[in-house]
Amino acid sequence: MSLKGIRTNDKHIKNLANIVEGNRSILYKKEDLLAYDCDGFTIHRRLPRAVVFPNNTEEVAKIVKYCHEHDLPFLARGAGTGLSGGAIPLNGEVIISLVKMKRLISVDFENRRAVVEPGFVNLKLTNSISDKGYYYAPDPSSQYCCTIGGNVGENAGGAHCLKYGVTTNHILGLEVVLPNGEVIEIGKDGIPDAPGYDLLGLLTGSEGTLGIVTKITVRILKNPEAKQTVLAYFDNVADGSQAVSDIISAGIVPAALEMMDQIAIEAVEAAAFPVGHPKDIEALLLIEVDGISAGIDEQIHQILEVCKRNHVREVKVAQSEEERARWWANRKTGFGAMGAISPDYLVQDGVIPRSKLPEVLNRIHEISREYGLRIANIFHAGDGNLHPLVLFDARKPGETEKALKAGSACLQACADAGGSITGEHGVGIEKREEMRFIFSDEEIAAQTDIREVFNPKNLLNAGKLFPTPGRCLEVKKEEKSVTAS
Ligand SMILES: Cc1cc2nc3c(=O)[nH]c(=O)nc-3n(C[C@H](O)[C@H](O)[C@H](O)COP(=O)(O)OP(=O)(O)OC[C@H]3O[C@@H](n4cnc5c(N)ncnc54)[C@H](O)[C@@H]3O)c2cc1C
Repeated sequence: MSLKGIRTNDKHIKNLANIVEGNRSILYKKEDLLAYDCDGFTIHRRLPRAVVFPNNTEEVAKIVKYCHEHDLPFLARGAGTGLSGGAIPLNGEVIISLVKMKRLISVDFENRRAVVEPGFVNLKLTNSISDKGYYYAPDPSSQYCCTIGGNVGENAGGAHCLKYGVTTNHILGLEVVLPNGEVIEIGKDGIPDAPGYDLLGLLTGSEGTLGIVTKITVRILKNPEAKQTVLAYFDNVADGSQAVSDIISAGIVPAALEMMDQIAIEAVEAAAFPVGHPKDIEALLLIEVDGISAGIDEQIHQILEVCKRNHVREVKVAQSEEERARWWANRKTGFGAMGAISPDYLVQDGVIPRSKLPEVLNRIHEISREYGLRIANIFHAGDGNLHPLVLFDARKPGETEKALKAGSACLQACADAGGSITGEHGVGIEKREEMRFIFSDEEIAAQTDIREVFNPKNLLNAGKLFPTPGRCLEVKKEEKSVTAS
């Protein structure tokens, strides 16, 4: 029996356990590691070597230094809700879980900023400051459990990012442990627009390949004086899509402008928060405007007019906060609701110019027919961020592979329409090859060159983000280990 009751011959596990204070500092038994073999992208799985739970930056830095010196692959993990496989230990990594680092360190209302540890859950920030009339804007639908560290990793978005911007627009400073264990601060004291290269921008959305974030200074916002929410039902998708374009063209920037298609409506109505949407419509829009009270009624009037011009079947304004909350719960649990109508589903995440919505949605219908799989669409229509959800049954031979191909074809459709292969879920392992849809080899090489400056041994989260096998650790082994669930 060695220190902390650890029974293993793996000297690295013993040494790593000794770095971290407390008894429950490391997992290394197979039965414990199973919970960490994937994230929200469950199609690929691999066991980590161990999962370590540091309490503070100093411990993170020591763990990283140890891994660096002993050539052990490692990666950071928040809540593990990522949908592109960013936290999957492809190379049997040591996972550095940040869940114990979950303090709200400080709030500075005067300068509208807060400092959190990376394991702090997104929604807890708004809940902690709402009594003073403030909130944190980026609101991924997973916000009740995902961490702000993970949001920085993926540059997460959310329904209300149309008006307020995604995570990167709300990050003022980061403390980062570099892949050699050195600790640096970027955006010191949260002063915006520092001279020099925009390292905050570079680190945010780098999917845990450049460093491990251990402290985050974020912007907080004053609650809007008023908000109103509209629900509109359309008999066909083209009319709904046109209404989206017309609302933005009218000069209105809604806080949120979301769309669901017929299959998505079937799912949310069969799941935990039904609101009674008609099942025979092709599209619904959920539109929210906020700001000073004076202008809100006029904006709502304009939105209702746009919907009518586009042959809306029914349109209504939420009559109470309770009704508004119900509509949002129905929308925000949309991905999980797929479980009510399909054994498995794959979430895709492409971006297109808004004007191409009808064309790309048509193409997605064709892809659905070509592959013989149903595809639901729930998405941030206002900023053209599509989420085709490919429904499949992994128990049927070959269906997982078919779903992956259908998902990739949806991303090709987005790229062909002048868009991109990810709006907010990141590339991870899921879309590495699809990076070629939008970047040339030279453009990819330029980005991997940047990674090498930060992460020259490529021990940190190797094999993610880029289709560059030559530079990835053990990629061949990794490809063999991939198993469909
Ligand atoms: C039901 C559901 C709904 C979702 N809705 C949305 C949505 O609306 N918008 C959206 O953007 N996403 C959404 N997501 C995806 C996911 O929740 C986000 O990507 C979120 O930001 C991941 O946070 P996490 O704490 O789970 O990170 P993880 O999944 O643990 O990690 C994500 C990535 O960040 C890296 N990372 C984690 N912590 C750190 C750190 N401290 N330093 C450096 N790198 C780190 C990891 O290595 C990994 O590459 C949804 C997911 C689910 C399951």
